Amino acid sequence: MPTLKERLYDEWALKAELTQDGVSVHPEVLRRIALGSAAQETVNCLFSYNRDLAAEIDVPPYFILPHGLIALFHVDRRSDWRLEHDGRGFFVVDSDGRAVPVRFPERPGYYARQTSDGTPMRTVAVHNSDDVIFVAYSNECSLQATSRDCLFCNINATARKYGDVQGVKWKYPRQIGETVAAAYAEGARHLTISGGFVPERREVEYYLDVADEIRAATGLDDFNGTACIGAPRDLDVIAKYREAGYRTLAINIEVWDEHFFRAYCPGKEQECGGRDHWVRALEHAVGVFGRGRVRSNMVGGLESKATTLEGIEILSRKGVVAMSPGWIPNPGSALEGHRSPEPAWHLDVARKTYQIYRQVGFTFEQVYDATAVPQTLVHDLYRIEEERLPVFAEERAKEAVAA
Ligand code: SF4
Repeated sequence: MPTLKERLYDEWALKAELTQDGVSVHPEVLRRIALGSAAQETVNCLFSYNRDLAAEIDVPPYFILPHGLIALFHVDRRSDWRLEHDGRGFFVVDSDGRAVPVRFPERPGYYARQTSDGTPMRTVAVHNSDDVIFVAYSNECSLQATSRDCLFCNINATARKYGDVQGVKWKYPRQIGETVAAAYAEGARHLTISGGFVPERREVEYYLDVADEIRAATGLDDFNGTACIGAPRDLDVIAKYREAGYRTLAINIEVWDEHFFRAYCPGKEQECGGRDHWVRALEHAVGVFGRGRVRSNMVGGLESKATTLEGIEILSRKGVVAMSPGWIPNPGSALEGHRSPEPAWHLDVARKTYQIYRQVGFTFEQVYDATAVPQTLVHDLYRIEEERLPVFAEERAKEAVAA
């Protein structure tokens, strides 16, 4: 009989497959999930991943796997996995007939509420797993005006497809404050504020107003927020985010190689002083926020594994929680139709990232606070190795009864 950790590592590998490949599903099966009533529906506020699916069809945000790991849910007809319902529960089934039971998250209470100006709160802050919420203040990026959007990004295509259907719009600070207060009253304890570039890079004033509203609505001076921004040309601006009450800062570099940066992120190259300035901004941010309190994501699979890991190692040693979640080529992006590396590639990068984090001393809490989605493969390695999942306590209880 495999040990619990061995079973969890099998589940971790399955998660990587489901996250990269998605599932095929008949709309009739989706209807059985009770999305938008008992079960949580996906609100496409920034990026979207479903292929060949009408915007009007709701899907869940993620699967809950048998031992408690969580995998992003997205629909892809090409996947080897399909979602089935046997009359009692849901399963993912592959072409060899391997069937794995899955569950879906309950809908948060605040998804049924509105802000004081009548805006549905579910369109203001998306609820991720593990008490984390995510606010995309803008669901558009101004880089489209000059056709310099990042090549992997589908923010503007997502806004065109889902903006009207799901009612996702620009968010005002008061709406965000009220929604964060409602979500925190239900147990949320970390948030990220993000969004596309706004014209003339006027985001700093906006982020400060948002922080004021959140503090006023929640009564919390430290609301455990991450401000996700583009590298400011004037690095002195970074201190303002700290003074406003954000605990962590995210400045996503997207790729490590400077030539790739120029090619994949032409708008960031032009607006933010180039890739070397981006690295300087990260170093400066660590000086302001502290080690382990600044994050930078790279799109896992756009460049070679060696280059990605070099970036993760160099930035981590500087105190930046540098991560490379697996790339899922977004429909509507310039790279639509491309393929991400195999799941094993992403598992290997996650394992090596985790080893680097252990060497530099990043704790789970630091990684949790610095990231917008607390369900990367690297988070899971902490959960498995530090026995953080409820299944460990359940297993110990069973052993105690049997002894
Ligand atoms: S800066 Fe790049 S990644 Fe960010 S929203 Fe704009 S196009 Fe997308």
